[in-house]
Amino acid sequence: MAAAAVGQIWARKLLPVPWLLCGPRRYASSNFKAADLQLEMTQEPRKKPDPSEPLVFGKTFTDHMLMVEWNEKKGWGQPRIQPFQNLILHPACSALHYSLQLFEGMKAFKGSDHRVRLFRPWLNMDRMLRSALRLCLPSFDKVELLECIRRLVEVDKDWVPDSVGASLYVRPVFLGNEPSLGVARSTQALLFVILCPVDSYFPGDAMSPVSLLADPTFIRAWVGGVGDCKLGGNYGPTVFVQQEAKKQGCEQVLWLYGSDHQLTEVGTMNIFIYWTYEDGVLELVTPPLDGVILPGVVRQSLLDLAQTWGEFRVVERKITMKEVVRALEEGRVREVFGSGTACQVCPVHQILYEGKHLHIPTMENGPELILRFQKELKAIQVRCTLGDGLDACSPEEFMSHEPGD
Ligand SMILES: *Cc1c(COP(=O)(O)O)cnc(C)c1O
Repeated sequence: MAAAAVGQIWARKLLPVPWLLCGPRRYASSNFKAADLQLEMTQEPRKKPDPSEPLVFGKTFTDHMLMVEWNEKKGWGQPRIQPFQNLILHPACSALHYSLQLFEGMKAFKGSDHRVRLFRPWLNMDRMLRSALRLCLPSFDKVELLECIRRLVEVDKDWVPDSVGASLYVRPVFLGNEPSLGVARSTQALLFVILCPVDSYFPGDAMSPVSLLADPTFIRAWVGGVGDCKLGGNYGPTVFVQQEAKKQGCEQVLWLYGSDHQLTEVGTMNIFIYWTYEDGVLELVTPPLDGVILPGVVRQSLLDLAQTWGEFRVVERKITMKEVVRALEEGRVREVFGSGTACQVCPVHQILYEGKHLHIPTMENGPELILRFQKELKAIQVRCTLGDGLDACSPEEFMSHEPGD
């Protein structure tokens, strides 16, 4: 931790130097700065959603958005908070043709003190920069972007619903905006952030479990690919598979990988199993970050929480369908669930695999662990200080950012 923090300070100090030395780029700005933020408030504020009507995820947007443009000659422009508006894109825009596009997803929660807090946003900034570099999009200063996002959330914080579990979903997007059909590095780019007020994923906190289609003929990501980056191109093609799951009476897809049918992810969530492993030890297991798995913020948070409890083994290890089937037959499975920003923790009660409906006894088992995770996460997301037992996972790192400070 300390070493990483020191590294960051040095990196920030040292980075501008090579830019100063490289002649033609002397005036190109290698980073945008929150201090340069331009603020244009909307003249036509829209009506906030009626709290008595359910909010459909991702369909309602706030009044403002963050916009930053980059081009190779001038570098980053000044960041702007501007009225929510359509984009104007050249029809050859490389994001539209070759998926030079990435995104992020995180939530801002309103606490009992009515302050709004982002949940572990540094992890999203890290992931976003990694995705950007994988697409040869320009680098940016994660601290400055997060500060711009904080200011945006502050401007639109009245859009965070007051109801329990409601939040503001924050969607950063970064795309190559090259007006050319060549498959090449983009010399123009656009970074923007939009916000959606969202209700609690499980209405009334009644958790409903999902059923999964596990069909090894569909592959989401592969070793050497980009499954570990949040690139738009990873998601469009999954809609077809999701439809296939629906046709077969399942709600989501369980993505398998390899000839041994490894469990990798659930829809757009990471997967966890709480069971007694073959060696007789009670454990929480999730697949390791081997390039096929998206490194989820909630995934990391569950691992961190369970580790601090120290009540059972917490392990990142490959999981195969054969192991799951055997554990089900032997009654060793307690809970199976997905994790992600949208639902936090989502129970699984059935898997359709090789023509058989496998029943998972998640709900019969409480679901004890799932409810405990939900409760812990909610407490962290809405309170100012962390309670007992969490100190070991570094409060500053784990939590919040407070618009209004
Ligand atoms: C976004 C995403 C997740 C969850 O990540 P969080 O940071 O926890 O929201 C998991 N799997 C996939 C494929 C994803 O796209």
